[in-house]
Amino acid sequence: AVAAPEPVAAPAALLPYQDASLPVPDRVTDLLSRMTLDDKLGQMTQIEKDALVPQSDLAAYRIGSVLSGGDSTVSPNNARTWADTYDSLQRTALTTPLGIPMIYGIDAVHGHNAVRGATLFPHNIALGATRDPALVQRIGRAVAEEVSGTGIDWDFAPCLCVARDDRWGRTYESYGETPELPSALTTFITGLQGDTLGAGPASVLATAKHYLGDGGTSGGVDQGDTKVSEAELRAVHLPPFKEAVRRGVGAVMLSYSSWNGVRSHADKYLVTDVLKGELGFTGFVVSDWAAVDQLDGQSGFTGAEISTAVNAGVDMVMVPHDYKKFLTLLRGEVTAGRVAVSRIDDANRRILTKKFQLGLFEQPFTDRSYTATVGSAAHRELARQAVRASQVLLKNDGGVLPLPKSAKLFVAGKSADDIGNQNGGWTVGWQGRSGPVTDGTTILQGIRSAVTDPSRVTYDRYGNGIDSGYRAAVAVVGETPYAEGRGDRPGGLGLDQEDLATLARLKASGVPVVVVLVSGRPLDVSDRLPDWKALLASWLPGTEGAGVADVLFGDYAPTGRLPVSWPRTSAQEPVNDGDGKDPLFPYGYGLTYSGTGPAPAPGACTARLRTTSSWQGGYQAEVTVENSGTATLTGWSVQWELGGSRVTSLWNGSLSTADGRATVRNAAFNGALAPGATTSFGFTADGTAGTPVPHCTGY
Ligand code: BGC
Repeated sequence: AVAAPEPVAAPAALLPYQDASLPVPDRVTDLLSRMTLDDKLGQMTQIEKDALVPQSDLAAYRIGSVLSGGDSTVSPNNARTWADTYDSLQRTALTTPLGIPMIYGIDAVHGHNAVRGATLFPHNIALGATRDPALVQRIGRAVAEEVSGTGIDWDFAPCLCVARDDRWGRTYESYGETPELPSALTTFITGLQGDTLGAGPASVLATAKHYLGDGGTSGGVDQGDTKVSEAELRAVHLPPFKEAVRRGVGAVMLSYSSWNGVRSHADKYLVTDVLKGELGFTGFVVSDWAAVDQLDGQSGFTGAEISTAVNAGVDMVMVPHDYKKFLTLLRGEVTAGRVAVSRIDDANRRILTKKFQLGLFEQPFTDRSYTATVGSAAHRELARQAVRASQVLLKNDGGVLPLPKSAKLFVAGKSADDIGNQNGGWTVGWQGRSGPVTDGTTILQGIRSAVTDPSRVTYDRYGNGIDSGYRAAVAVVGETPYAEGRGDRPGGLGLDQEDLATLARLKASGVPVVVVLVSGRPLDVSDRLPDWKALLASWLPGTEGAGVADVLFGDYAPTGRLPVSWPRTSAQEPVNDGDGKDPLFPYGYGLTYSGTGPAPAPGACTARLRTTSSWQGGYQAEVTVENSGTATLTGWSVQWELGGSRVTSLWNGSLSTADGRATVRNAAFNGALAPGATTSFGFTADGTAGTPVPHCTGY
């Protein structure tokens, strides 16, 4: 954000809260002392841009935050108009007596996906397949620049859900099914915010969502109930949030789901005691869209719902429409004493602290120098790199891949030439849609520009016209876009009729078939797999389809590894790493081109315990990891045994434990480890006696 372009009359003297040289806590205290109750209640109110009628209500009701939900847009839909809209709203917000800037949030969940022409990255499940925290951090930075170019200050990302049942329609928003993978990829937060919120340019507030247990609901039902013990909730679902808090995430969004029947938005234990208390989260908690209004199972706010949520620890309510009723009821709860003024002050302190840290009081308007980064060549190149790195090769009989660039090829399938399909949900619209929704390169276009002679590539969506003269048929099939709710598939994850018919035509030709699966999760492929020579999981790659071609033609060998177990059939769900079920392809599976067999066995590494010392009834340990193999390692994990039982595991710098109480110190895991090289880290653990025995696996 930047300062107001038009000259403003110099104020006689700065009030303490307006004085940027004072420490943020002092500015907050001063501002709070000047605010009326209505000012404070307004700060806790977040409304959908399109619900704000007339715009002057923003100031009249002292609204503190605006959002664009999935279907919010501007016309024409381009970065400049978004920036103009932002600045216009901000000008209105600043007309209140205290001139408190609004903060504007949006779901930039795979790039700045509301904006036509933005760079759209692979969805999270694909980033999980890269297992590359440094790459994900760079993506976070690119997203921050594009979001900043439209003025927007706050991103409702990353989703740190641990997706345990792939029938859940939000599986693609998850980095993976184990706590380690989402924890390791919280680097996205650092990418968005910078090392310190607001300290560097284009710093965008990040949101860890959805707290807690959204990916663990029974049957993979969206907004369902996560029926697990507290120990399992802490072991599986909490670690990524711990890591997010450690990285200084500015906001946490609660989940629509329940834990053993208690809705997250009403769960004071999880929100106030665990998140704000135990984990030490100092940012603010935002509700999900209309989640408070749904607490009693019916639409329409009641005072009881509002006081329950605010008393549970919700600091800002994503209303998002009926702000007048919300504010009247919230005021009623406060004046009746059902919500303490101290709770209102705490919520305001948390929200205002982030606004000050972001620099909104000094620079409330769009920094137009970032507007040109929206869809820039540099960002598209980064996205293409991410697409490449996320491809997971699941089958490659007879080395049919990589394809020779001079071969006569037939390309078919509903997602071969469809930018909408390859982007999935949350793409210029909440649910996304098939067709030319935004700018980019389809997989077919990527194939055509990779081959030596594009006229040797024939395309027919349905596979009509194929004959035995082709070297290979590439079938790009899978899922069409969906988002929340609509993506749930309790009945199973089979291929649709069109895909089955296309694949049958290709099979009948006798030409070797390479299947490129464009989907947000594993689909039921066991029945058809014998018909296919190769299967490449491309996930939802985003706008840069050329990254898929990079791998198909061997410019880059596949390195992606499954972020979720791939079940034999979705009736086997839930299927997760270490649960003893026998999936079709296990978590972590992925082939490459260095041979026709499985990907190289995990690389050699050795973990040595350097020192242990007692610490508050537990211990501190320092460990050295050495690459004892001959190839460079790009990642490794360390598991600990205490007296024979596994107690902790470490993935690229994030440690989780069965009881969730260990923390890593001095972890430095980004970057490659050359043969013979070592790296060290330490951690502390409490409540456990004995000497840990580390076991190391490198990749
Ligand atoms: C989703 C959130 C999202 C919010 C705002 C909700 O429906 O669950 O993930 O951030 O909408 O668009």
